[in-house]
Amino acid sequence: MPEGDTVWRQAQALHRALAGRTVTRASLRFPQVAEVDLTGLPIHGALARGKNILLRVGDITVHSHLKMDGLWQLYGQGTDGRWERWRQPAQQVRAIIEASPRRDQTGLVAGSQPVQAVGFLLGLLDVFPSSAEESKLGHLGPDLLSPVWSDQLAQQAVTNLLARPDRPIGPALLDQGNLAGIGTIYRAETLFLTGIHPQTPVAAVPNLTALVQTAHLLLDANRNRPLRVTRTNDQPLWCYGRAGKPCYRCGAAIILEDLSEQGVGADRYAAGHLLARPEDTDRISFRCPNCQPLLG
Ligand SMILES: [Zn+2]
Repeated sequence: MPEGDTVWRQAQALHRALAGRTVTRASLRFPQVAEVDLTGLPIHGALARGKNILLRVGDITVHSHLKMDGLWQLYGQGTDGRWERWRQPAQQVRAIIEASPRRDQTGLVAGSQPVQAVGFLLGLLDVFPSSAEESKLGHLGPDLLSPVWSDQLAQQAVTNLLARPDRPIGPALLDQGNLAGIGTIYRAETLFLTGIHPQTPVAAVPNLTALVQTAHLLLDANRNRPLRVTRTNDQPLWCYGRAGKPCYRCGAAIILEDLSEQGVGADRYAAGHLLARPEDTDRISFRCPNCQPLLG
């Protein structure tokens, strides 16, 4: 599942490429929105809300979610008027939005070329009036990459987490209704850095505010960085993806375990085990058995 920083970067790229242009052609390949016609509408821009990308066109919002493997890519036009060749297979296309060269008050911006945004393997594509954004996305908790992140938003995330005090913190951190933006990588890294066992009941986590702020810092530090680093450039991650390897703090072997809520930690995977189904990746986590003792 893409992390919030990946989604944020894709929304930024869409925003830079598309804002200030006009839709010249759009093809939305989800049945419930296939008839929507965006042609001729001005593109205001794109932004991320948690793991959702909102593209505002006219008074409409095109909402996409990358789910497991989705991504947006941008393509230009050659001098012969043909679009660049896609870097992903055509059968993975879920949305195409083509836009005019950019204009400003004085007319066409010099050198501006048409652009094509293509969404591949999007997990969700929806279209609704922009005025309905809040009701459509109001279920999301505070956005860890919000431009107005604050102590109040951190406190709101803590309050949301504490609404189910007995729930293990591992699954609770992935619940985008509590706080938005964390995927399995930042969950593992945040829990490691705060020394928390993922099975710890939410109410028994000693400093939930520090934990939420750690997640925010990690995501924020990586928002413009393609290589995700929570440690050093040479050894970028503390524990995610390091099953069987020695913990950088204590030397114990990092373990990979199942965090499904039915049986948290019940069936522990062998080091290096490859997961059979992509949906399983939400359940797995990496942990140091020494540095993250079980509390509560
Ligand atoms: Zn350790």
